[in-house]
Amino acid sequence: MMSNTKIGWIGLGKMGVPMSRQLIKSGFSITVFNRSKDKKKDLKESGAEIASTPAELIGLTDLIIIMVSDDKAIHAVFNGDQGLLSAGTSGKIIINMSTVSPAISKEMAALCKSQGNNYLDAPVSGSVKQAEEGQLVIMAGGEDEIFETAKPILEKLGKLALRVGDTGAGNTAKLAVNTLLAFHAQGLAEAICFANKNGIATEDLMTIINNSALGNVFGKIKGEAIIHDNYQAAFALKHIAKDLRLAKAEGLDTPLAETVYKTFQEAETVFGEEDIIAVIKQIK
Ligand code: NAP
Repeated sequence: MMSNTKIGWIGLGKMGVPMSRQLIKSGFSITVFNRSKDKKKDLKESGAEIASTPAELIGLTDLIIIMVSDDKAIHAVFNGDQGLLSAGTSGKIIINMSTVSPAISKEMAALCKSQGNNYLDAPVSGSVKQAEEGQLVIMAGGEDEIFETAKPILEKLGKLALRVGDTGAGNTAKLAVNTLLAFHAQGLAEAICFANKNGIATEDLMTIINNSALGNVFGKIKGEAIIHDNYQAAFALKHIAKDLRLAKAEGLDTPLAETVYKTFQEAETVFGEEDIIAVIKQIK
């Protein structure tokens, strides 16, 4: 892919904004679409062109990246009235970086192929901070040749872009990673609750954990958030609840997975819009 590749970006949420800005910083010309109009203004100020529908966007660009919430949003973007497929264009590469089911990737890849377009699933590990710094970890599924063509662009967004198999494999890898993320979040929350109940301050416990073999970036960021009672979403709890549902539908039924599934489904009804670490309020 050349630096004059015209990129289309769909989805300007918490991740889509910093990721698309990263491509503008890298010198690409970008056209963006977002369902709600207000968010497009920010990107216009950063130098992006604005499309009013996905169909218009695909006509103006060569490679389209999608970063939206879930399977339902993907259906709307591809199959909606003015969706990508309604344009009938061919020869495009469409990269879906959202965390969605392997099944919807297979469905959309087949529809893309029937029009002469190519589809990659390429979800990401990392959150807003890593997106701002171009340090995401990207796991992809799809044809090797298409992945190699797109890789130089993916490498502007992430420190690693790895193809893990055919269509849907990136989604499956992401669901495995997020299962572990849910274990970490609930595990950290339970350790803090146990310590607090027995007179240990959260600050002291986190200082110990962060200096031990168990210290990690997640614990550092989320420990700080708990200490400051800051549950504003970087990664909304509703998204991990969704990811655990997707993993369960793919056959995940091991003991810890069953436990986090139940915890996060219950937590979503009250704390869905807050950060994943608001699970501590559910545990309490
Ligand atoms: P977000 O802030 O909730 O943004 C969601 C985006 O999807 C918005 O642009 C929203 O448009 C769009 N959308 C939702 N429903 C739609 C529909 N029916 N039709 C068209 N567009 C629709 O989500 P996010 O945190 O950026 O996450 C995006 C994806 O990345 C999710 O799959 C999430 O699981 C995954 N992810 C997130 C993080 C994180 O830390 N945040 C990390 C890794 C992966 P509107 O503005 O119109 O609502």
